[in-house]
Amino acid sequence: MARPILIANRLSAPLILASSLLLLTPSPAAQTSTVEVYNLRSYTHPTHTRIVVDIGKLREFSSAELKDPERIYVDIYQARLNPILLGKTYVARCDYIKEVRIAQKNATTVRVVAELDLAKVERYQVFPLFDPFRVVIDIFPKETASAPPTAPPGEQTPAVPAEKPAKLPEPTAEGYSMARQLGLGIQRVVLDPGHGGEDPGAIGKKGLKEKDVVLAVASELRTLLAAKGLEVVMTRESDIYIPLENRPVIANQQKADLFISIHANANRNRKKRGVQAFYLNFSPDPQVNEIAALENATSTKRIGEMQDTLKKIVQNSKILESRDLAYKIHGNLVKLLSQHYSAVESLGVRGGPFWVLIGGEMPSVLVEISHLSNAQEEERLKSPAYRRQVALGIYEGILEYMRSLGKG
Ligand SMILES: [Zn+2]
Repeated sequence: MARPILIANRLSAPLILASSLLLLTPSPAAQTSTVEVYNLRSYTHPTHTRIVVDIGKLREFSSAELKDPERIYVDIYQARLNPILLGKTYVARCDYIKEVRIAQKNATTVRVVAELDLAKVERYQVFPLFDPFRVVIDIFPKETASAPPTAPPGEQTPAVPAEKPAKLPEPTAEGYSMARQLGLGIQRVVLDPGHGGEDPGAIGKKGLKEKDVVLAVASELRTLLAAKGLEVVMTRESDIYIPLENRPVIANQQKADLFISIHANANRNRKKRGVQAFYLNFSPDPQVNEIAALENATSTKRIGEMQDTLKKIVQNSKILESRDLAYKIHGNLVKLLSQHYSAVESLGVRGGPFWVLIGGEMPSVLVEISHLSNAQEEERLKSPAYRRQVALGIYEGILEYMRSLGKG
């Protein structure tokens, strides 16, 4: 469940361009909260290098040039760096960029620095692009600078690795990890604790917040998966706001093999209880649409963007795999909880239109781990023992899914 949030109009802001300083005037609503910087990417073309900072919501930014060492920087205001980018540096493969790095400059400013060899740079420009909002830095080398040994014109080639080289899982006490033994390529799992920051999600009658419960369960699940030698990335590790649409982007960027979004449900009927799992599909079931509406409430997308979305869904060949994963997670979750608790209700597995599942290039599932609107389930969700059983249930489901791939 989610409280709707008013989103600033991203396209109506005036643009003021003054030498190397570029300011966007965000609406008052945008100024009051920080937005997450969730991706930094870069491509070297034969003619120039493009660095893109993905921000998601309109933000004011400025850029300037500094000496010793020669560098340009872009400051993005009212922004926070997703922890997955913390401390990351990127070594460019072209001779006119030495390094690109991104950091949290202070509590509300994110700074991107590109260290350059200005003697080899003809010019550069910093400008915004929209839908979703991003800041672009284009750097053009002088003709004397050697062109990068890259792709034919028009083809995009990563100039700098977008992420660290894939690590093989470390051997565990039992020898090589299960991921390694099965050799299935399922090595990296992205866990997505729902909501966060200004968006608490569902709130129980006694005040328990969905955003806190799901973060605790995801952290528990991370420990279990890591002990099996799987790499785990969390879309958030703290109480920060991350737009729904950015979450599968994070999973794609991390080249995750599975994406699991963890939520707790709410219903107007406080007697309603139980666990349920979802995969992406358009569903005529009004009950599913109601849950989807709650989970989609913070989406910044407009109806007009549905076309683009439909295309993405058609391209998504992972729907069958996602359904299979959803069944295995749900089955194990119900089984495990039923062994320790009474009146555990299975609400089954359904397809539904969830923004957070759209665009993911890997099997993706959303799990509703119980109802915060139900007094007994709120009580249970408060206890570390129940949270641990929930994490164990999802964990067993993931392992069963991996084993089933091994047989196939
Ligand atoms: Zn939720």
